[in-house]
Amino acid sequence: MRWTPGGRGNIDDKRGRSGGVGAVSMGIGGVLVLLVLSWFTGVDFLSLVGNQTPSSYETSGTGGAVAASPEEEKLVDFVDAVMEDTQQTWEKLLGGQYQRTRAVLFRDAVQSTCGLAQSAVGPFYCPGDRRVYLDLNLFNELHNRFRAPGDFAQAYVLAHEVGHHVQALTGVEARVRQQQSGDPRARNELSVRMELQADCYAGVWGHSAAQQGRAQQGKVELDPDDLEEGLRAASAIGDDTIQKRSNGHVMPDKFTHGTSAQRVEWFRRGFDSGDPRSCDTFQ
Ligand SMILES: [Zn+2]
Repeated sequence: MRWTPGGRGNIDDKRGRSGGVGAVSMGIGGVLVLLVLSWFTGVDFLSLVGNQTPSSYETSGTGGAVAASPEEEKLVDFVDAVMEDTQQTWEKLLGGQYQRTRAVLFRDAVQSTCGLAQSAVGPFYCPGDRRVYLDLNLFNELHNRFRAPGDFAQAYVLAHEVGHHVQALTGVEARVRQQQSGDPRARNELSVRMELQADCYAGVWGHSAAQQGRAQQGKVELDPDDLEEGLRAASAIGDDTIQKRSNGHVMPDKFTHGTSAQRVEWFRRGFDSGDPRSCDTFQ
């Protein structure tokens, strides 16, 4: 991927404020379960986190300057560039219906309208304040734990979260939440459909980023091997793959995001078409 830094207008930097999580009452097993349950989900699970007693967490951040390495600062510019590019793409696709969001960067834990969340829940989109939340350490996780290296793998994750923002703007998110509360048994299946649509939307952005000669300020351009990185990432975070690795077996009724094959398929569908209308996972 090639990209140029922009003005960080897509970033809401809370790294200095969110601070470390102190005495967390969950053991390592709990943290792993959290990670598995909520990898790339967000809201459902977050409200669960938000219901925990606040005393389980001690945020020690006091605000002010962020101590960050030059490498981390480069990641901030990267996130900004991808956010800028995805949003320009959606502005083109949706016109006046599109309203901008920002990526809230935090460390360890953060308070959002969706509740208090730890980094272990992974990146998430909060419909309540319409922001994407991200701990930059995710990119290490993606590389080391999920074996999905590469900048386009990282960009896919961001574009997936922006896909949830699009669902909030188009009313899909509200409709699904309503259906879920009306029919709890359909909850997971509806969640899978919504997540696969966000994957497809990430692919739609990838299609536009793959056009040549477009790397300018706050814009990205893809290399030939980038699609492969994205597909590998989509496969690595499929429900069946994650379940198999953490439990040794697959529980289809617990799926919330779709299998590896489904995630790859829908990402690919968006990437090939570049058309959000090809992303109707609710049919
Ligand atoms: Zn998601």
